[in-house]
Amino acid sequence: MRAKTSRLYKKAMHSYCISFNFRTPYQILLDSSFCKLATEQRLNLQQDLQTVLCNPTRPMVTECVIQELHKTGDHRAATVAKSFERRKCKHHLPVTSQQCILELIGSNNDNNYVIATQNDIIRKQIHDIPGVPVLRVKNGMIILEPLSKVTKDAILQKEKEKTLPSSAEAQQLKIAKLVQKPPTEPVHKKRKVKGANPLSMKKKKKQSPPPPKKQKNQGNKKNKNTNNDKTTTNTTSKTGEKRKRSSDDTKDS
Ligand SMILES: [Zn+2]
Repeated sequence: MRAKTSRLYKKAMHSYCISFNFRTPYQILLDSSFCKLATEQRLNLQQDLQTVLCNPTRPMVTECVIQELHKTGDHRAATVAKSFERRKCKHHLPVTSQQCILELIGSNNDNNYVIATQNDIIRKQIHDIPGVPVLRVKNGMIILEPLSKVTKDAILQKEKEKTLPSSAEAQQLKIAKLVQKPPTEPVHKKRKVKGANPLSMKKKKKQSPPPPKKQKNQGNKKNKNTNNDKTTTNTTSKTGEKRKRSSDDTKDS
């Protein structure tokens, strides 16, 4: 098998694994037509099936398939088919392998069978069921048929569903929306009144220290105090003048 073909088969089986939960070892259901041709062409089915699917496989047949091979006189193929795992079917009286296999697949291929068949009727019917890989013998080799349109559409649909929230997640989102409050207008915080801007305040004039109080003549305290105040203001003004002069003097000097 070419490397390119191997990559294609790997990719196809990966799609079946991702989208339809196929797991290794792959269960391969062989019908009578496939067993017959594979035996005629002396294929080593156990080995070749693993090579094609690049993974361990479990080839299996039903009692109906074996009985059909005996009926058609393909006893050698029946002997080969008996060497594989037996898959139980619900038929007490054997039916055609076509009917038996289609019933096992059902409408969804829930058991994830890979179908190995040369029967065109089975192949056509399988193409309408999503997620059924089909193997057949061509030019002395086993090949994996490309994904059918129905399977491709189902894969796309499943990928879309994966991006959407599940029912549980949707329920949670609903609850979250109910709990979430409607957006309100932003609340402006009131500024605290911190008093006048210190930069705009005028500096208080420095008051000169009061002169020492005189201890004598306490009876005329009020009048004297007023006099004292006057005198102090005079003295301060004088001292202010004196200080100004002194600073002027220093500037001149
Ligand atoms: Zn059956």
